[in-house]
Formats: sequence, structure tokens, C-alpha cells
Amino acid sequence: MSPVRTYLDHNATSVLRPEAKAAMVETLEAGGNPSSVHAEGRGARRRVDLAREQVAMLVGARPEMVIFTSGGTEANNQALRGTGAERLIISATEHPAVVDGARGTGLPVDLIAVDGNGMVDLEALEALLQADDGQALISVMTANNETGVLQPVQEIVQLAGNYNALVHTDAVQAAGKITVSFPLLGVDMLTLSAHKLGGTQGVGALVVRDGLELSAMVLGGGQELRRRGGTENVPGIVGFGAAAAAAHSELSKAQSKISKLRDDLQAKLLENSPHIHIFSGGAERLPNTVCFAHPDMPADTLLIGFDLEGVAVSSGSACSSGKVAKSPVLTAMGADSALASGAIRVSLGWNSNVEDVEQFARAWNKIAARHKARKAA
Ligand code: PLP
Repeated sequence: MSPVRTYLDHNATSVLRPEAKAAMVETLEAGGNPSSVHAEGRGARRRVDLAREQVAMLVGARPEMVIFTSGGTEANNQALRGTGAERLIISATEHPAVVDGARGTGLPVDLIAVDGNGMVDLEALEALLQADDGQALISVMTANNETGVLQPVQEIVQLAGNYNALVHTDAVQAAGKITVSFPLLGVDMLTLSAHKLGGTQGVGALVVRDGLELSAMVLGGGQELRRRGGTENVPGIVGFGAAAAAAHSELSKAQSKISKLRDDLQAKLLENSPHIHIFSGGAERLPNTVCFAHPDMPADTLLIGFDLEGVAVSSGSACSSGKVAKSPVLTAMGADSALASGAIRVSLGWNSNVEDVEQFARAWNKIAARHKARKAA
């Protein structure tokens, strides 16, 4: 086993950025409740205000549009519950925070079919919108957490406009990896999560357009302009802001660096195993993600093999129970059952480098050689 670990699971949680860590430590030491009027409280308020500006800037929004939450899951639930929409239309490949969040509202939920690359079928969406069953809220993610495939959110917004439907996008995986512009997308609401871009777990945001009335899901205080009760997670929010600012300032350079590394990693993967399947390989994807399956290697064998070689990756769907299950996302894409249960997701991040790709390739070559030897025996 290699003494040096290679972390290639940034879509599960990225690595804390040094800027975020420094800002969080300073905030923890400074203390103060942003609702208090004394100097300590005012200091905490200033820190939260700065973070709000930094997070807004990442997606080209204005600070007052940002509602801080306990993470992407809460932001998605808030979006699905708060608008007064009478029915929900979500893609068949949404994260459980949207799938279960939508079901939990008690509203009628329709799923939009996706094609073999996991992209939503716009004609299927239009057919759903044509059913005159009251105002719809459409929720389609900007980028998928398993395959990285990008969805045509702007086209969805255009279509929604013809039917007076609202649009929410879960941009948890896209933000910080590609340019995400709230005004250019034209959505009504957008979800972010700090730990996917170098902040910490347990903090996220819902960005809400001006004029959209939203009833709060978490009641109990006047925080966040009465849109989310509860004392703010000040250190988490401050770290989120610092991570968002760092991600924003290096975005275009990081994007080309990461996509080169990813393409190299993918090429090395295919070099000795040409029959590997790359999910969503035929569509536009996030620059950091490769989701692949080997026709006769189960995901748990691969996961353990990589882990023993010092490489952290995840199964196509790292479900919270820690079990490797067949991915509903890949199943919705029509993937063959053996491939869907053998999927491995490799996701690079802000601190990934050439050595990580080399170590991944060495690990893969060993795993593949062992597999060949076993088959030949
Ligand atoms: N949405 C997507 C696409 C995700 O990948 C995740 C996390 O895996 C979430 C939402 C949930 O975010 P959080 O972990 O901040 O609750």
C-alpha cells in the first residue's frame, strides 16, 4: 500500500482550501453572534456580510439574493417547498436531496426522462408542462454529481417561460468548477454547497431572484431577512465565502488545468482496457469528473482495490449508507444493469495534480493486471 494517499473524490467532498481554513479559524477565535449589537456581534455580522458578497459574486448574483442554509440538501428542500407551486417536475437523475425532497412536499411529482448521456429530454419536459394542472416548479440540476453531465438549463428556463413555470437548479456540483451565472441561466432559484468547492460541510445557500416570494421552511428567528431562522453558522459561512472567492478568482485557469488532468486520466484508463464504458462520454461534462465501468468488474472490488493502492474514489453513487448500490442515475440513463452496478466515479479538485493522475494510473494498471490473471487462471 502506498504511504501517500491520492484523493480523487472531490464530488463527494472537496479538500478544505487554505483560505477557507484561515478565515474559519480567525472567526472561531473572534466569536460573536451576528444578531448582537455589541462590537463582537457587529464583527460577526461584518464577516457574514462579506461572505454573502463573495458567494453572490461566484454566481453573478447580488448579496441580498443569498440565503445561507445548512447545506445543499436544505437549500433544495427550501426551494421545492417555499414557492407555492402546485406541482413539481424534476429530472430523473436528480440528487436524492431533490428526489426525496420533492416527494416529501406531498405535491404531485413528475419525472423528466433523460437520454443515454443523462441529458433531459426537452420534448418530454414540454409534454409535462402542457398538462394544465396548476403552476409547476421545474428542478433540474446544472451538473450531475455522478457523471458530471451538464443540463441545458437555459433552454429549460425558456421553455418554462411559455408555461408560467418556475425553475430551480441544483448547482452544487457545477459551482466553482465551471462558470455558473445566475442571471445568464435565468433561473428563479439556485442551490450551492460549501463543501463541494473547498469550504466546509454543513453550510450552503439558496440564491433567489428578486421579487420571488418564498415562505421560510426553518422558522424561529428573523435571520436571513426572515427567510431562514436560526443563528447563522458563522465560521462555516465565512469559510464558504473564502472558498467561493478563491474558486472564483482561479476559475478559468483551474478549469483548463483540471480538464487536461481529467482527459489524461481517462486516456490512461482506456489505454489498457479499451472496453471500459465512460458514462456521459458523448456529452458536455464537468471538467473534473469521469464515471466509468468495466463490464465484469464489480464496483466494490474496484473501490477496495483503489483504496488499498492509496487512491480514494467512489462508486457511481456514494450512497449515505456506505453500501455500493446500483445507481438510479445510471439506471435512468438506460445503462445495462451490470455496468450500472459497476460504476466508479473519479472526481478531481482544486489541488489535484499530475502525480495524482500517475498514481491513479499505476493503481488501475495493477488492478486490471490482477483481474486479467484471475480470469486466465
Ligand atoms: N446536490 C448535489 C448535486 C450533490 O451532489 C449534493 C451532495 O452530494 C447535494 C445536493 C447535497 O449537498 P449537501 O451535502 O451540502 O447537503
